[in-house]
Amino acid sequence: MRRAIAISAQGLGSTSPNPPVGCVILDSDGRMVSEGYHVRKGEAHAEFNALTAAGKLADGGTALVTLEPCNHHGRTPPCREALINAKVARVVIAVMDPTSRGEGGAALLRKAGVQVEQDVLRDEALLVLGPWLDSVRSDRPFVTWIFEAGPPHGRCAVIRHENLRESHDLVVRPDGEITEGRPGNHGRGVFHVPSSLGGTAVETLGVLRESGARSILLEGLSSCADVLSAAGAVDQVVVYLPDTPHSWAPPGQVTAIPDGYRLTAATRDGDHVRLVGRR
Ligand SMILES: [Zn+2]
Repeated sequence: MRRAIAISAQGLGSTSPNPPVGCVILDSDGRMVSEGYHVRKGEAHAEFNALTAAGKLADGGTALVTLEPCNHHGRTPPCREALINAKVARVVIAVMDPTSRGEGGAALLRKAGVQVEQDVLRDEALLVLGPWLDSVRSDRPFVTWIFEAGPPHGRCAVIRHENLRESHDLVVRPDGEITEGRPGNHGRGVFHVPSSLGGTAVETLGVLRESGARSILLEGLSSCADVLSAAGAVDQVVVYLPDTPHSWAPPGQVTAIPDGYRLTAATRDGDHVRLVGRR
């Protein structure tokens, strides 16, 4: 399952509005024979990719999948059906799909005689699926805000976070311009993006979710970030704290991460400390 979780992250920044999902197939002797992940909307799901690579070796085997297999006919047949047709004996699931309302793939797999286990490494799978899941449950995309903490440097661009950009569907620059986190990776015409978040930032987040975006990265200090933060619409903050003297009297009140967030990571990064906080 950890392997399935790891490869599911390949889809970060390109699968929305679908979730980033990974799947590993074991044969009837428990040997890993194939894997697959979902790349983008309109293309095959993780289970289908892994089953295709496994061929007949999936017969009597196990599918480990990070999200409950789907049960809807879209552009591809439901993964529940593909797993049954491949004669998989057991399906192990990390995260149940809240959009299935109890009528998802797991129930029908059981009905078909497939052994199903759920909630296996759920917390670890949520490291990848968490933002998508949060967005399913709310009316806006998951929002990460990255900035450099004071003292003011006359600029707020943080340069060393390309990886964070690529994990998000859209990036909002300090001047309000909106770009894709992984340009071109969603295929053409997925997002109908306004040129900027403008003055009604919270409403625009809803519009961006309607257009398919499930995660957004706000870069730097801007009025837009202030508005969203004040509205409680920022889920995660990434703060670069410049080196400070080992002993000093700060000029007035200084903070590490904004109030309302709990620290989840603190590492060194060049001449900064990198802090991550979650609401
Ligand atoms: Zn599916």
